[in-house]
Amino acid sequence: MTSSDIIQLLPDSIANQIAAGEVVQRPASVVKELLENAIDAKAGNIQVILREAGRTLIQIIDDGSGMSETDARMSFERHATSKIRQSEDLFRIRTMGFRGEALASIAAIAQVEMRTRQADNELGTLIKIEGSEIKTQESIACLPGTNLCVKNLFYNVPARRNFLKSNSVEMRHILDEFQRIALAHPEVGFTLHHNDTEVFNLLPGKLVRRIIDIYGRNYREQLAFCQEDTSYISVRGYIGKPEFARKTRGEQFFFVNDRYIKHNYLHHAVTSAFDGTIPEGSHPFYVLFIEIDPAHIDINIHPTKTEIKFDDERSVYAIIMAAVKKAVGVYNLSQSIDFED
Ligand code: ADP
Ligand code: MG
Repeated sequence: MTSSDIIQLLPDSIANQIAAGEVVQRPASVVKELLENAIDAKAGNIQVILREAGRTLIQIIDDGSGMSETDARMSFERHATSKIRQSEDLFRIRTMGFRGEALASIAAIAQVEMRTRQADNELGTLIKIEGSEIKTQESIACLPGTNLCVKNLFYNVPARRNFLKSNSVEMRHILDEFQRIALAHPEVGFTLHHNDTEVFNLLPGKLVRRIIDIYGRNYREQLAFCQEDTSYISVRGYIGKPEFARKTRGEQFFFVNDRYIKHNYLHHAVTSAFDGTIPEGSHPFYVLFIEIDPAHIDINIHPTKTEIKFDDERSVYAIIMAAVKKAVGVYNLSQSIDFED
């Protein structure tokens, strides 16, 4: 090193804080990442406990696989993941996570306590970590699964803390993430408590049940089942009747291999399938699941993974449009609704 050399590697704690900015914008980002981890761990029931719209507490308790003591520690390392091993795996992704960044990012900007146990082990592990620094690691008695407590988000990054919006706005973002994941996984039970009030208690069941439990019983008569299978993709889900279309957006959901995505082009496929049956500027309700071989998609284009690329987008458009057209047509013809259950 000479006196003109000025480049230094950043200490891990700073690198982690910077990387955290990509993953954690607000409490809702933490809720999303932890829920996805619980889903990936094959949880059957997931509890969400929040205080002050997640500012002071976000706790997610799952009954999934849990972690060994070594993995519990490793899980907070950046780029540490059990979900991919080699670059080819990027084209086979079926899990929600794969970057191995969420827990490292969250631990860089909050006070985190994790209790985790695999069902086969008698004892579990407790890890306390804050600002990327492990404070405690010990064996403890705990339930199988993982219990993650995230306290005082951005406690060490005042600029980001001040950037947060009102509790009602932050809560809206959290509920958006929660509802998307709950819709994508009707087979999983979810509860959500905010400041000791129960906001949701969603029992495991069929998709139609989950839609009604989230949006209300009046949705039941408004839904038409939608299905189309081709060798490229299969589409399955529900659309709302044309009369049920609303001026406001927000109740339109595409899930690709169970991952929520935003896709304006595909949204257009749905609205054009309604073809004159809904007023200009109205948006139909829909919850559509697209199943596709992961080799045909790229989910790595956006850090929050809500945008993806299909290798043949025009075919996806055409198939979705055909599926929705059929559902709208069947509904118009028979006036009866084909329910799954
Ligand atoms: P990613 O999900 O991208 O792998 P994360 O930082 O979210 O990265 O998690 C790191 C690893 O920790 C995961 O790959 C997984 O092995 C483990 N892990 C995280 N959360 C849980 C959980 N709730 N149950 C079991 N294992 C978990
Ligand atoms: Mg993850």
